[in-house]
Amino acid sequence: MRHTDRRTLLKSGLMSVAGIAGLPSLAAAVQEVSTPYKRPRLKITDVRTAEVRVHGYQVHVRVHTDQGIVGQGECTDAAMGTVPLIRSFGRQLAGQDPLNVEAAFERIRTSGVFAGAQAGVYVTALTGIEIALWDIAGKALGVPVHQLLGGKVRNRVRVYCDSGAREMIPGDEQSKARIQQIQQLGFTAAKIDIDDAADPARFDRVNWTASTGEIDHMIAKVAFTRELYGKTFDLAVDMHARYDAGTGKRVAKELEPLKLMWLEEPVPAENIDAMRDIRESTSTPIQCGENVYLRWGFRELLEKRAVDIIAPDLQKCGGLLEGRKIADLAHTYYVPVAPHAVTSPIGMMATAHVAAVIPNFLCQEWHWIDDLDLWRNWVKEGEIIEKGFITPPDRPGLGVEMNEETARKAQVPGTPWFEPTPQAGGRGGRGGD
Ligand code: MG
Repeated sequence: MRHTDRRTLLKSGLMSVAGIAGLPSLAAAVQEVSTPYKRPRLKITDVRTAEVRVHGYQVHVRVHTDQGIVGQGECTDAAMGTVPLIRSFGRQLAGQDPLNVEAAFERIRTSGVFAGAQAGVYVTALTGIEIALWDIAGKALGVPVHQLLGGKVRNRVRVYCDSGAREMIPGDEQSKARIQQIQQLGFTAAKIDIDDAADPARFDRVNWTASTGEIDHMIAKVAFTRELYGKTFDLAVDMHARYDAGTGKRVAKELEPLKLMWLEEPVPAENIDAMRDIRESTSTPIQCGENVYLRWGFRELLEKRAVDIIAPDLQKCGGLLEGRKIADLAHTYYVPVAPHAVTSPIGMMATAHVAAVIPNFLCQEWHWIDDLDLWRNWVKEGEIIEKGFITPPDRPGLGVEMNEETARKAQVPGTPWFEPTPQAGGRGGRGGD
């Protein structure tokens, strides 16, 4: 019998099929067998976790595949309690194609409609996996995640330094040193907190109606910080969703002369009408979003013009493609996006890939100034913020890899470190794509 190679055999087979199926089918089939490009075929084999505590509590996620490619993700803030969910989602995903990120996301999201899939821990768990799937997709296809999300509209992503509250005391030398440090690091924007449960002018430990004395202290703190940074430096102020609407209005009004970049969460985001009332009462820009999930969470906030700026946290609100969709929704209302971010360089870089592709990006948070040793050694690539900017790399995937020796220093005691999931490897999955 004459030797026939695989391609010849396929083509001869296709010729006979052509007679039945016609020319368009033939063209498509020939394209399939003759193109030099072949989409890689991968299957998810396991999803593993590691829990750390640095600025709050974070869960790192690794999605393993049958071809050795491992994707990494990170979830935060609502991460407490995500590990059993992530393991359960991992069992659902076993055997599936990790490159079909939207399909994997939607299966898990819609299968949890009665299990809390609208917000909170459920969405945060899903978020950690979603980010890891993008890392796999980029590594498998040899492109950076920003390319998969639509391609860059900017090369550098502006980062602001969240310096917290403790040191921003008027006249205090430590506070001055902190502000100097932030400026020397090259940042052009920062955020401070003005909610203070220990304020001496507080009369009640439960109710958060601020007294005149408390409000005076808040304004003095911001004025002091604003003066030291100077007028060209952008300053944001966070109230951490603790106060009532009347306090929010008073503070926003008194801060107007200080020309803030934004006032964050004067009230919780759960009552959109209350947030809108504050926004309508002041020229101080109002921001919220770190406690809002998925597009559906942001829809009414935007429709009612309740905020000037949204701050989705891409390590909890649904992930990178969901973040892009939320940003696009905001763009239709001409609302800019300033992603909330308190994670390691892995989560920060994941956020930066999205920030690089959305036209309406404003700036991205960074919150590890008190953990600089961990920050600078968490990934093998070292420091990722250069003079207040992140440049998302063109390396495949997220472009950063965990340095485990450093990360394990922050491991939550008694928790597993990327250990294989019991019963993973196909059982419980819904089959491939
Ligand atoms: Mg905040």
